[in-house]
Amino acid sequence: MELKDIRGIGEKRAQTLARQGIRTPIDLLSRLPERYVQRRLTDLEEAEKGETVHLPGRVTSEPKVFFIRKSLSRLTFLADVGGQTFTVSVFNQHYLKKTLHPGIHIVLHGRISSEHKSFTAQKVFLRENFREGILPVYNVEGIRDTTFAKLAREAFTLLADSLSDRLPKPLRERYRLIDKKRLLDWAHAPPSPRALHQIRRRLKYEEFLDYQLKVRLLRKRHMEAQGLAKPFFEEEIRAFTKNLPFSLTASQKRALGEILSDIASDKAMRRMLQGDTGSGKTVVAMVSAFAAIDDDHQAAFLAPTEILARQHFKTAQALFAHTPYELALLTSTTPKEEREAIEKGLLEGSIHFVIGTHVLFSRNTAYRRLGFVVTDEQHRFGVLQRGALSRKGEKPDVLYLSATPIPRTLAMTLFGDMDITTIDEMPNSAKTVETTILSETDEARVHGFIEKTLQRGEQTYIISPTIEGGKKNRRSIADIERSIRHRHPKARVGLLHGRRPPEEKESVMEAFHEGMIDILVATTIVEVGMDVPRATLIVVHHAERLGLAQLHQLRGRVGRRDLPGRAVFLYEGDEEVRQRLAFLQGSADGFAISEYDMKRRGFGDFMGTYQSGRLRFVHADVEEDLPIMKIARDDAKAILADADKGRKSSYEDYVAAIEKELEEYADYSL
Ligand code: ADP
Ligand code: MG
Repeated sequence: MELKDIRGIGEKRAQTLARQGIRTPIDLLSRLPERYVQRRLTDLEEAEKGETVHLPGRVTSEPKVFFIRKSLSRLTFLADVGGQTFTVSVFNQHYLKKTLHPGIHIVLHGRISSEHKSFTAQKVFLRENFREGILPVYNVEGIRDTTFAKLAREAFTLLADSLSDRLPKPLRERYRLIDKKRLLDWAHAPPSPRALHQIRRRLKYEEFLDYQLKVRLLRKRHMEAQGLAKPFFEEEIRAFTKNLPFSLTASQKRALGEILSDIASDKAMRRMLQGDTGSGKTVVAMVSAFAAIDDDHQAAFLAPTEILARQHFKTAQALFAHTPYELALLTSTTPKEEREAIEKGLLEGSIHFVIGTHVLFSRNTAYRRLGFVVTDEQHRFGVLQRGALSRKGEKPDVLYLSATPIPRTLAMTLFGDMDITTIDEMPNSAKTVETTILSETDEARVHGFIEKTLQRGEQTYIISPTIEGGKKNRRSIADIERSIRHRHPKARVGLLHGRRPPEEKESVMEAFHEGMIDILVATTIVEVGMDVPRATLIVVHHAERLGLAQLHQLRGRVGRRDLPGRAVFLYEGDEEVRQRLAFLQGSADGFAISEYDMKRRGFGDFMGTYQSGRLRFVHADVEEDLPIMKIARDDAKAILADADKGRKSSYEDYVAAIEKELEEYADYSL
């Protein structure tokens, strides 16, 4: 069947639809509304000031049109609304003059203003054209919502008898969910608010169940791929850790123990190592990589940015200096010749440990035998990308590092495909960072802090959340840099942000790292992982624009090693804003901060700081619908457990369908 078999679709409309991925009647029918609006006539008595309403009325005077400017017209007329006379104004719709005449029944759409007898209408409907009810909103380009709904209804009539439901019946029955046929019948024209409620319940549950099944199937696939235990020698690891300039904390040792037993077993590791910034995750990852590398296996360390890749490479070089292993750094700025040499080394196996950015997993990079993968800041990569990553190796163990702690129960729900290890202890040398909250207008005090830091020969970060300045007194990052140079003429000042060329970013970072720059003015680009031991002061402008977890991360840039650190958060805003920030003064515990932030800002905003693509659900809301997510998680677990036992079940086809969807991502590459 073709689109053109549907009444109302000709050549032109078929093209419009095709451009948006709608090529068949089933595509059309399956394109569900993004949202719904409820439209009903408002009773004037009930209407409140400021409310957007639909008022039924009758025109009582011939409309008059005034042109205020060439492109601005105003049409006015009198109308009887609920027995009162209103003066109605409509802007830029002078053509209405042709239709509106005394005696015609209309519906006025607009907002009730304070002046009762005058009403500015956004829209005037003829009464006979106005439909009350729940209206779908599709946002399909070039086709009105009402038209689209009508076409979808036509498609439904054509297809109704052939529709099947992939969501298994027992699940529908258990939760009293409507079936697919009813869903598609109702979705394009919900007959009642109750029906709408039923539509939403079904869509949310299905979306979550799909997600949970995918996440679990990926994990299962990964586990099945594993068959080889990687042997390692405890003696060697002990010797390796002896070479560290410090001894591991108890928490680090426990984490390492869990990871090592995964490496030794034939279970494929998929483990998230989470812990506060500075808790020593990177070191644990390095030791683990050392354990995983042997004659046969290579390790890769994936960093989210070039700067971090370089930094990790340096760390690794120092730690691996006494080992026979060959290390390499590979990023998108690696010169072509060097890059080719590294690619050759990876393919032949002469390079044992490679550190770099996403190019590590581009199509061109092949490994002789990749056995261990670390990805730093895992939330920056989506779930499917992660799949692509582990497919590069034959049987790789994968360790994800995350410095933005998520409360454990939530983590289990969202990242059901991973084991979780938490480092909940800071190395002794890590000092708590003295935290000061100041209004932007108190900026002068900041210069005192900077001056003292300079005198001690220590370094300062100045952070601006944005590059551009924008409204009011908000300054651009270049303005901030200028004023710093002006106030501290002797200081060596560097500027770092995402729009600078990569080579320049590197050299600035390098210089800061080596102590050749005293003050680094930067965006939040330095947020994760930067480790500059002599940096002891961080100043963050417009802290109100960042999440607490993120500010805590930034604060973690200073007070490393034995030098005490200070963070100054400058904000613009009221007492409430100050109070939120003040929580940081009282807590150095990343988990507590995350939880507080989540409660204050709501889950959606909170997750926004994760830059996570994987958590965007269309129908469901991760915060509001978390209880449904939990049910879906348990169901997915049970369904797959059944499948594992080889039990014939009514879920088989469903699982197969989901697996097929995952196949489509098989070639997905970072
Ligand atoms: P994370 O990756 O969790 O942010 P890192 O591994 O980068 O933390 O460690 C932060 C800093 O603390 C580094 O300079 C590191 O060398 C140091 N460090 C790590 N573990 C210890 C420890 N057990 N004792 C002292 N210092 C440590
Ligand atoms: Mg780190």
